[in-house]
Amino acid sequence: MASSTEIPSIALAGDISIPQFGLGVFQVAPEETIENVRHAIEAGYRHIDTAEAYGNEAQVGQAVRASGLDRSEFFITTKCWNDDQGYDSATRALKTSLGQLEMEHVDLYLIHWPAPSQDRYVETWRALIEAQQAGLARAIGVSNFQPAHLRRIIDETGVTPAVNQIELHPYLQQAGLRREHADLGIVTQAWSPLAQGLVLDDPAITSIAAEHGKTAAQIVLRWHIELGNVVFPKSVTVERLHENIDVFDFELSADELAQIEAVDRGERTGPDPDEFTRP
Ligand code: NDP
Repeated sequence: MASSTEIPSIALAGDISIPQFGLGVFQVAPEETIENVRHAIEAGYRHIDTAEAYGNEAQVGQAVRASGLDRSEFFITTKCWNDDQGYDSATRALKTSLGQLEMEHVDLYLIHWPAPSQDRYVETWRALIEAQQAGLARAIGVSNFQPAHLRRIIDETGVTPAVNQIELHPYLQQAGLRREHADLGIVTQAWSPLAQGLVLDDPAITSIAAEHGKTAAQIVLRWHIELGNVVFPKSVTVERLHENIDVFDFELSADELAQIEAVDRGERTGPDPDEFTRP
């Protein structure tokens, strides 16, 4: 079992650090969430990525409290959904999320999608800036933002998001956006780090796994860690929770990293951020 102290942290603006590895709870049913998060905490996870849209914030909060550990040991992220965008509604949405979580603050609050056709992400960003100043979110960031969306919020408010949470896995490596993040000082969070399982049969990845005596999932997660991405694979399977966090005792060689770089297909599993606006 990995202990949480083995998990590296990455510094965010404002003297906050984020554990580079955690648990995602998208598509975890509310009735499964308490047990899922409890098992994860027992396995050493301290960073949980949820969202208002996942419908399980309340259960995440309950599991954190039930652990008996101090709130300060956890890093909790939640997100503002598309139909809550706008200055007033985003301000209300964060308060609703905090009510669901039964927490006084989140560690990170994100705009879930830019939803550019609504054209409200700049005023939404202003609401997040004020929420951070009010202490309701220790850090603020965005998700699924393209370079033009990032530059616009930075130009119009002067505040750079701490993170951009984007779809990123071996079949969608996002080299251009990662370079943009590095230039702007934004930490990259990789959602669907395993491409929801699609990359786990890739021959390049399974052969590296065989070399190391590790699983394909562990190779992919280790690749993310070495790239500097923050990851939070989802699993409701207890053995996989343990397997996924057990990636801090080996390294990939430059040649292995190059082999994984070569499997990129520029292939999304999720929606196109320039188009997606589902309310
Ligand atoms: P992941 O890439 O984490 O894959 C999850 C799937 O892989 C599940 O079916 C899980 O199965 C399976 N799996 C997990 N571990 C293993 C393993 N070791 N071996 C084999 N299969 C495994 O996909 P997600 O889409 O869930 O992404 C992770 C998180 O990213 C989300 O939970 C959410 O927090 C975030 N996210 C954010 C988005 C955004 O727009 N900001 C969009 C999508 C995700 P099982 O559970 O049955 O074990």
